[in-house]
Amino acid sequence: MAITKLEDLRGIIELADEEKAWDEDGENTLPLLISDDIIPLLPINGIRHQFVPSIMENEDSVGSLDPQEEREHKGTERLVHRYRNRAAFFTTDKCFAYCRHCFRRRMTGHMIGPASREEIEEASKYIAEHKEIKEVLLTGGDLFTLSDSHLDMLLSIFKTNCPSVIFRLCTRAVAVNPERFTDSLMEIIKKHNHDAPFFLMTQFNHPAELTEKAIKATARFIDMGIPAFNQSVLLKGVNDDENILIELSNKLLYTRIKPYYLFQDDPVRGTSHLRVSIERGLEIEKNIRSELSGLGMPQYTADLPQGGGKVILTHAYYKGSITENGKERYIFETPDGEIRYYPE
Ligand SMILES: *Cc1c(COP(=O)(O)O)cnc(C)c1O
Ligand code: SF4
Repeated sequence: MAITKLEDLRGIIELADEEKAWDEDGENTLPLLISDDIIPLLPINGIRHQFVPSIMENEDSVGSLDPQEEREHKGTERLVHRYRNRAAFFTTDKCFAYCRHCFRRRMTGHMIGPASREEIEEASKYIAEHKEIKEVLLTGGDLFTLSDSHLDMLLSIFKTNCPSVIFRLCTRAVAVNPERFTDSLMEIIKKHNHDAPFFLMTQFNHPAELTEKAIKATARFIDMGIPAFNQSVLLKGVNDDENILIELSNKLLYTRIKPYYLFQDDPVRGTSHLRVSIERGLEIEKNIRSELSGLGMPQYTADLPQGGGKVILTHAYYKGSITENGKERYIFETPDGEIRYYPE
């Protein structure tokens, strides 16, 4: 049985004082829901901090509930059109487990429910009319909390009205509820995977989440020809450790998932206690880059406040240029910390 109350955790982990003090009706929080597949992993701190709430959520006063100002970039009621050529559609506000670091907590778990047929049709018309939109993220909440029939309806409408748009299937369910990916569900996805391709976007933050079941669920997509990319969030006490991130990336590659983004946790109120400083993030980025292949290296990325958009954060290897004898030369730091001059 999924965990929905602090008492349910008795006998699984010993709650710390700040966990016991969490107030589900307090400020800045979202429901407690931990799925069956995550429960046995809770003794691992890197899993526990992602799913067990803390009073620090309630007490946080930093940031806003919508730092990306997604509500300001509405295409339709559930469609955010912030980048010219891509948009995000909120299929639902529900998830199989709620992540304490959720940056969409202004809407997740608020029982708004799945997008209606009218909302899907309205969004698909908007996308079809805006020919510049090439990619749409089907996100939430978790897309796969929709029933098979609802998902079938949603994909039918989008694929019929926007056949040349690439849809990203954004889900954490392969990690937190891999049983969702039944034969009947996979048949529905297969049926709609024509014209423009689907891409699977996963969220694995810690190597322990890549259980055998999670790997198998992801493989069902990849075996169908759907490429898989992972978006992690850099989280204190979870993966703010070079060795953990390196292990995560290598495990992802063996699962045929490309590490895509490593997100700086957004300044969303209620998540400060999980945030890693950008200074430390940059150090981690540099350190893991020297241990990972290009395939294994995610892009460390921040989503700037006031709807500024995503920017890549990386150690500055380019140090400027100098002019010598009328010729300009670029100055670089090598990954080993030496200096090299690059001719113009
Ligand atoms: C992140 C995001 C996207 C996709 O950005 P990519 O850099 O292409 O992965 C699209 N729309 C919104 C609103 C986003 O937040
Ligand atoms: S799965 Fe995504 S939307 Fe759901 S709680 Fe986690 S981060 Fe938020």
